[in-house]
Amino acid sequence: MKAIRVHEFGGPEVLKFEETEEPWPQAGEVLVEVKAAGVNPYDTYMRSGGYGARNPALPYTPGSDAAGVVESVGPEINDLALGDRVFTTGTISGAYAELALCKRSQVHPLPQQISFAQGAAIYVPYGTAYRALFQLAQARPAETVLIHGASGGVGIAAVQLARAVGMTIFGTAGSEQGLELVRAEGARQVFNHRSPDYQNEILAATNGRGVDVILEMLANVNLGNDLKLLAHLGRVIVIGSRGDVQITPREIMARQGSVIGMVLWNTPDAEAASIHAALYAGLENGTLRPIVGVELPLASAAEAHRRVMEPGAFGKIVLLP
Ligand code: NAP
Repeated sequence: MKAIRVHEFGGPEVLKFEETEEPWPQAGEVLVEVKAAGVNPYDTYMRSGGYGARNPALPYTPGSDAAGVVESVGPEINDLALGDRVFTTGTISGAYAELALCKRSQVHPLPQQISFAQGAAIYVPYGTAYRALFQLAQARPAETVLIHGASGGVGIAAVQLARAVGMTIFGTAGSEQGLELVRAEGARQVFNHRSPDYQNEILAATNGRGVDVILEMLANVNLGNDLKLLAHLGRVIVIGSRGDVQITPREIMARQGSVIGMVLWNTPDAEAASIHAALYAGLENGTLRPIVGVELPLASAAEAHRRVMEPGAFGKIVLLP
């Protein structure tokens, strides 16, 4: 089969489009014919070798989010049929490939009205947004949420989830088309995080009260200011960060606020099961509609890795084998 292989850690150029051996499912495993693979910023950090002891063994195939059909199943699997439409929440062999070997627990039904490209845009973005909003921030209807970086994969997912439960949403983006997308998906007001005074505009939009919840995609830039935008008992969930930041702890103390960090892969099984059930319901009833802004051939994985780190996000980038 064709797959993207990484033989050494480094820049996007280490992503090689190659012929490699087809995997074969053992007991409890499923082989998925990949129709689309999602590109997450995390895939680029891993490719760079930035995870220390948790780096994958070389060579490896990147990617955890795929959508496609069941190609074959190993012994002991009798609840999936060949050809079933599915999406993955992780793989054993990597998603940037024509075939992906998965554990049974990593394979989930893909509702009929969700395309394969959308299916590759589900788990990391929507799972992260759901866990941040509902399991960690314990967000409630009628609360206000600032989605700081709402135009990307996680941000759009969070906008749709927050809208579905009746929260008031403020969203930021850095481009006109991103701002338009965030507004169209349900934000009450949108703000450009490249404008000099936008934090004061957000505070003014809450009449000075502040927001109940902040989902933060770039904490190293924003966390210090986020604390000043929080309402009493407000919660900041740190989803993304690419460096250090200075904060004033008194801003948290004065509000009795909380700053909670998260990594999706640390979600306990029982809470992951809640996430899967909630996302399936939302995808099936049309509340959740993944936005795919860019589709590229699998061979263009290096270009996808460059683009996912550039400004001007518009939903997800997916690769098509
Ligand atoms: P993405 O699709 O590339 O989107 C990135 C978002 O960040 C865009 O909305 C972008 O806006 C925005 N952004 C850029 N500059 C910003 C600024 N100064 N302030 C606020 N937002 C800014 O990435 P993603 O998949 O949504 O992921 C977002 C971040 O969360 C990444 O750092 C990712 O690694 C991390 N993440 C963490 C977890 C976890 O488990 N903790 C899971 C998933 C993702 P414009 O492009 O419009 O400027």
